[in-house]
Amino acid sequence: MKKKQTKTKYIFVTGGVVSSLGKGLSAAAIGNLLESRGLSITFLKLDPYINVDPGTMNPYQHGEVFVTDDGTETDLDLGHYERYTSARMSKKNNYTTGKIYNNVITKERRGDYLGGTVQVVPHITDEIKRCIKAVGNGIDVAIVEIGGTVGDIESLPFLEAIRQFPFDIGRENVLYIHLTLVPFIKAAEELKTKPTQHSVNKMREIGIQPDILLCRTDRFISADLKRKIALFCNVEQEAVITAKDVDSIYEVPLVFHQEKLDETIIKKLKLKAKAPQFKSWEKIVQVIKHPQDEVQIALVGKYVDLKDSYKSLCESLIHGGIGNKVRVVIDWVNSERLEEEGVEPVLKGSHGVLVASGFGNRGIEGKISAIEYAREREIPFFGICLGMQCAVIEFARHIAGLSKANSSEFEPKSPDPVIDLLPDQRRVQEKGATMRLGAYPCRVEKGTKAYEAYQQTEVSERHRHRYEFNNRYRELLTKQGLVLSGLSPDGKLVEIIELADHPWFLAVQFHPEFKSRPQEPHPLFREFIKASLKHKRAGG
Ligand code: GLN
Repeated sequence: MKKKQTKTKYIFVTGGVVSSLGKGLSAAAIGNLLESRGLSITFLKLDPYINVDPGTMNPYQHGEVFVTDDGTETDLDLGHYERYTSARMSKKNNYTTGKIYNNVITKERRGDYLGGTVQVVPHITDEIKRCIKAVGNGIDVAIVEIGGTVGDIESLPFLEAIRQFPFDIGRENVLYIHLTLVPFIKAAEELKTKPTQHSVNKMREIGIQPDILLCRTDRFISADLKRKIALFCNVEQEAVITAKDVDSIYEVPLVFHQEKLDETIIKKLKLKAKAPQFKSWEKIVQVIKHPQDEVQIALVGKYVDLKDSYKSLCESLIHGGIGNKVRVVIDWVNSERLEEEGVEPVLKGSHGVLVASGFGNRGIEGKISAIEYAREREIPFFGICLGMQCAVIEFARHIAGLSKANSSEFEPKSPDPVIDLLPDQRRVQEKGATMRLGAYPCRVEKGTKAYEAYQQTEVSERHRHRYEFNNRYRELLTKQGLVLSGLSPDGKLVEIIELADHPWFLAVQFHPEFKSRPQEPHPLFREFIKASLKHKRAGG
């Protein structure tokens, strides 16, 4: 039996110098390392913006919205946490400033603070600490990532809360890890430590002395330089970790392990840990680095200029590649480009076509023509959420003869709304957290490609949409050959469609990408890549 830690330990991950250094990935990699040392872990992401959740934000502002089983719309870092560890995220694992204030204001209106003045310190900071404590309950180590960069006005209440935290639970149970940048300056031919020194100073000004520094850099930091950073930043030399750029994000835990990050954390927090188990993770990295072949997948979407908008999708394709021991090269295709340039010149050369999720009618016709092309040329096709809705429209228009078929999202007056609002959605007025969200069961029909992939009839997948296949068209479309291979258990909602007379043409109303892991590629992504590889090898 594993010995239980007596008290939950907390690791706070902050970032300095610039954004986009990979704080989320670093937190996920730390979780991965500790889990492989036999410790139970969880995560909390604290986001400084005022939106209650990222669900109402444009992907260009925020990147992907990651959806958890319980239907919370969360920051994309929670996707990293789930992919790197066995921890499963829920509404208690992501708080924004908006959500914290919302809680405090609700309490104030209820009269919880009657007679008092409600202030940032202590009321907001107390609420933040309450959320931090709640997430760690019963877990060995809770890893808490603070969004933003030290020095931002808006992250101050979070930093103040984590500064106070050791006074509540004991300094020996808290570790501060700070991610900074050590840039190589070409003109001087040197790595420079000053930005790191400034960033740590900023932390110390607000009362937090980092225990460990993760130094993001493009080359290894020498012992001499580590000594210098340690001296100026008031940390131990062994606590200066080279966080070197890597080719694959899945290498990060291994690079941290080489730098003895897990050992240092275990020592500093006095954790009872086992010997490391990295075999399965090393295998993943091996396959990524030495693939047997390569397939090109066209990812058709409208937010392709910001790759973070499709983070989980992109990772799931990589996982599908791992499952087939091949590298997946993604060709990012803006669906509007297809409308301007035509489909053939853009999609020629792709071994599979994936049409992604999305909202609004910009780029829709481009997506529909990409699907038509894949269907006619027998190129493997995978549609996700909006991708499935477009596939139904394409089929209705070009096979079932409903030339004006559309979704009522794009054409409210369409005579043939083959995709329509879910009945429950008709009364909905508010935009925040009101879609069909989270995990729902789906019944998979035997004898279909979906069943071939899943090998089971009951699956659970996560959703995020308002529109759905319109059942008024079920009979007509199935008569014309559309296969409904997955339905909700009551049979009322169409969740998976496919074509029988095509090598691999399948689309889903849900988001399988939220459940794919590098060690366990999602069956639909694995089969899609397998079909694309077959198409390539057949000379496609
Ligand atoms: N816009 C569509 C809907 O709301 C699809 C959403 C999505 O792709 N996530 O149903």
